[in-house]
Amino acid sequence: MKKYEDLLEDAYAQVPAKLSSGERFEIPKLESFSEGNKTIVRNFGPAVDALRRKRDEVMKFLSKELAVPASIDADRLILQRKFFGDLINKKFEDYANSYVVCKQCKKPDTHIQELGHGMRNVVCEACGAVNPVK
Ligand SMILES: [Zn+2]
Repeated sequence: MKKYEDLLEDAYAQVPAKLSSGERFEIPKLESFSEGNKTIVRNFGPAVDALRRKRDEVMKFLSKELAVPASIDADRLILQRKFFGDLINKKFEDYANSYVVCKQCKKPDTHIQELGHGMRNVVCEACGAVNPVK
């Protein structure tokens, strides 16, 4: 039988080191290039994993915000249109600020709590804040 402190330690051990270092969190930058009329985000998978969110969910968000069909191919995100500049990163940051970074303590150690009927909370594991999101 494990002691409570050991269990806590186990829980901390599972949090990726860079998220629990206490330093200011940097939202990962998406690297994209165009191919014909498409835009390929080559590091989509790892960037979303760093936010501890579902790739599907982030794809849907970007697809809606950029008003373009999107699909996932292994670690890459394919957008069915050419995009220039930092628009994709801007939207990705919007996502992170709305659904990942805690509004109170600005840490990314959060998870989404599904409440049903399209209601969701962002729950912070660092400070315990609960913020409703759409
Ligand atoms: Zn917090």
